[in-house]
Amino acid sequence: MTVSLLGAAEIRRLAADLDVTPTKKLGQNFVVDANTVRKIVHAAEVQPSDRVVEIGPGLGSLTLAILETGARVTAVEIDHRLAERLPHTARDRGVPDGALTVVDADAMRVTELPGTPTVLVANLPYNVSVPVLLHFLETFPFLERGVVMVQAEVAERLAAKPGSKIYGAPSVKAAWYGPWRLCGNVSRQVFWPVPNVDSLLVGFHRDPEPRGTEQERVRTFGIVDAAFNQRRKMLRQALSGIFGSSAEASAVLERADVAPTARGEDLTVEDFLRIARVVP
Ligand code: SAM
Repeated sequence: MTVSLLGAAEIRRLAADLDVTPTKKLGQNFVVDANTVRKIVHAAEVQPSDRVVEIGPGLGSLTLAILETGARVTAVEIDHRLAERLPHTARDRGVPDGALTVVDADAMRVTELPGTPTVLVANLPYNVSVPVLLHFLETFPFLERGVVMVQAEVAERLAAKPGSKIYGAPSVKAAWYGPWRLCGNVSRQVFWPVPNVDSLLVGFHRDPEPRGTEQERVRTFGIVDAAFNQRRKMLRQALSGIFGSSAEASAVLERADVAPTARGEDLTVEDFLRIARVVP
């Protein structure tokens, strides 16, 4: 099977055909460089036997690079014109029938994914990158690993470790599911239109066993939000709102073996989970 990738001129022609002008609202910055989409697929170590989900396939540049490996793809696209066109583009570029399934929907709202994909690969819409990632990890336990392209600061946050300045609620919530790592940078020049931010690739592997129950996850995330809403405050103060008083917060923290004078940025996801587990 030979799949031919899209070049810059073809992408612009496709967009013109569809009367699509990229919008900021939907984070539409299309990759117009074949080397870049192949680099993303390589970083994600996509194998021919993989079932991949892509969020926001757009005009299909990354989709075709994934399909080129022989993997099957489920692609979730919110823009109807793009979702409708993608199967035609795939057929025209040599993709065999059945290899691509397009879901015309808002990725933030999907609760079912045809094909039970285990790998996530995407150039995410920047405005919803963290919530959409967390939604997918939470809703689709069969997703085992992935590589996504996001705004550089977001990638750094997702991969940040405790004690660093950029460590925050997204870092802890992402770590709930497993380890994250930065895995490459991407030049602004490969996008159309050229964005005014830098992008990085960030990857994850889901831990083989869930860290806790769904109820523990919800509780932990609530504590994480409270801790980082007032990140400069000590935890006994930052958590006084959800535990009733700073004395009560101190008691909970001590039971969890966490210093009441620590700050959210000092704690690992395991520390947050211990707090959630000792809440009466
Ligand atoms: N994958 C393509 C590429 O690399 O050229 C397009 C990436 S572009 C950064 C983001 C894509 O996500 C756009 O096609 C946009 O329409 C789509 N999108 C934005 N919000 C979405 C959502 N909530 N659900 C699904 N797709 C979304």
